[in-house]
Amino acid sequence: MNKENLGLNTICTHIGEVPDEQFKGAVSPMYLSSSYEFLDVDVKRYPRYFNTPNQEHLSKKIAALEHAEDAMIFGSGMAAISTMFLAFLQHGDHLVVQNTLYGGTVNFIKEEFPKYGIEYTFTDGYSANDFEKALKSNTKLIHIETPSNPLMTITDIAAIAKLAKSKSILTSIDNTFASPVNQNPIDLGIDMVMHSATKYMGGHSDICAGAVASSSEHIEKIWNVGKNLGGSLSDMTVWLLERSMKTMGLRVKAQTANAMEMAQWLEAHSKISKVYYPGIESHPEYQLAKSQMKGFGAMLSFELTDDLDSYQFQKHLKLIKSSMSLAGVESTVISPHLTSHALLTPEERENVGISDQLIRFSVGIEEVKDLKTDIDQAIDCISKL
Ligand code: PLP
Repeated sequence: MNKENLGLNTICTHIGEVPDEQFKGAVSPMYLSSSYEFLDVDVKRYPRYFNTPNQEHLSKKIAALEHAEDAMIFGSGMAAISTMFLAFLQHGDHLVVQNTLYGGTVNFIKEEFPKYGIEYTFTDGYSANDFEKALKSNTKLIHIETPSNPLMTITDIAAIAKLAKSKSILTSIDNTFASPVNQNPIDLGIDMVMHSATKYMGGHSDICAGAVASSSEHIEKIWNVGKNLGGSLSDMTVWLLERSMKTMGLRVKAQTANAMEMAQWLEAHSKISKVYYPGIESHPEYQLAKSQMKGFGAMLSFELTDDLDSYQFQKHLKLIKSSMSLAGVESTVISPHLTSHALLTPEERENVGISDQLIRFSVGIEEVKDLKTDIDQAIDCISKL
């Protein structure tokens, strides 16, 4: 069978299984050994070398899903992104990075880069022109995130890749929000794709992991730094992640369909003043999202009308949990002004479009009618307070 042409759910289910040669079991055996034979072997295996049997095989699934030659799995999304950055940036180099970015990545850049003498510029906006304006003669890498957190802005992936290639600059993307189910940036010319696998790849809010997919040449460079930094993932969690990823296509497609229905419903709701979701036509980059995404994802944000208290709204939800993180099969909400953007002043938040009324919604696999009922009952309760 030609493994090149397998479809999404077949890749999720079968690629990267560790064959059980001994007992012919249907699922991958878990190899927990942290010590392997080194005499007369082709590969010297060790967990921190990212090459135990479970690590090596799961990497193949991630590479196949991202249409990449190779991939690596890490102990967290931050281990993945920090190792990737440090593999391609050194003293005197410059990184151009999108201004709307996951807060942990922003902190990493601001707190660690000065120690290494790496320069960086956050763009003013997210158009290709904003990225071009930020380039310098020593720029080595452009890093983007689309859809972005929490306002779901969409960056033109192909335009950024083209701009970077014309100047021999590498590109990387945080593809966590879309997941490989909804977006494959390597097909659009991006060099390296990273994920917080804690999110859609894990999908059950019980795994912390990360991944990078790219060409074999780039992965070798990342591996060389990764073995020094030591951010590998334990084999028990690798095994759990493999199991989770078997259903990723099914889960994320169901979540994406639910998100579209919820976005349309919320947009028509009298107590919701604004919805941010790239799949609705009122989104400023709807056409761009349609052209570069296979589905619009399962993350959206909305604003409650001014008469409603966003804290009380979350307190009164019965089914949807107010919860950090995202992308589990269960729906969750979060207030960006109380969490990811709490350290900004109200004026700074207003400048980036994050109001106290904004709720970020990670849509799960529940029945949509139940999610609607939950939101309606919470709004009813707090309207009477
Ligand atoms: N990228 C995005 C978009 C995220 O949302 C997160 C975590 O929330 C990360 C990266 C970091 O991932 P982790 O928490 O697995 O280190």
